[in-house]
Amino acid sequence: MDKKMPIQKLLDVQKVDLKIKGLESEVSVIPRQIQDWDSALSSQKERLAELKKEMDEKKKAQRAVERQIEQKQAELAKYNAQLPMIKTNREYKAILVEIDMVEKEISEFEEQVLTKMGEVEELEIKAKASAAEVKRAQEEIEKEKENLRQKQKALEESLEGTRSERQTLVTFVDNILLSQYDRIRIRKGGLAVARVLDESCGACHVELPPQVVNEVIGGKIKACPSCSRLLYWEEI
Ligand SMILES: [Zn+2]
Repeated sequence: MDKKMPIQKLLDVQKVDLKIKGLESEVSVIPRQIQDWDSALSSQKERLAELKKEMDEKKKAQRAVERQIEQKQAELAKYNAQLPMIKTNREYKAILVEIDMVEKEISEFEEQVLTKMGEVEELEIKAKASAAEVKRAQEEIEKEKENLRQKQKALEESLEGTRSERQTLVTFVDNILLSQYDRIRIRKGGLAVARVLDESCGACHVELPPQVVNEVIGGKIKACPSCSRLLYWEEI
């Protein structure tokens, strides 16, 4: 036969309940953690997609300028073809002016192409680094997820064991006392049995009437008049 006082048996229940609560809260943060990683990864992927888009736009702009160069070169060829057929000096000079203008335009466009090529190259370097970063993050997250899945499994096994331990322990506690305890536990979010410390409630720290303290020391089950938690006494 168990020689423990009822309140001590209840304390055993509380001990496993607090353990269950801790395990449950550890399990409950796991999906959030996974979600956080996933959303960090998807913002990295978005940044990469933006870089690629910017690069495509720059390439397109570069091609547009290159097409303009081709047009100007065709114009230039036309003028050059006209040159041998020109009769007057005046006409000749006029065409030379045109040729000069087109050549200037071509060289301006060529400069634009060079600038755009440089920008594309810079973006390519950034995109390459970003893609490597995404790949590394993805691998890292997969590894971390696997670790978490294993942790979750271990926590769930531990929870199962602790819950069955509780089922055994509650059989030693009086039903009415247990339901009183459960009510307080749920309302207080965990701690339902508090130790008397310096003649005060160890949970809410309100000073207890001497009679309550004496009754608790004498083995009676009393509730704290302030927070309603059940009180227990333990020699230091
Ligand atoms: Zn209290």
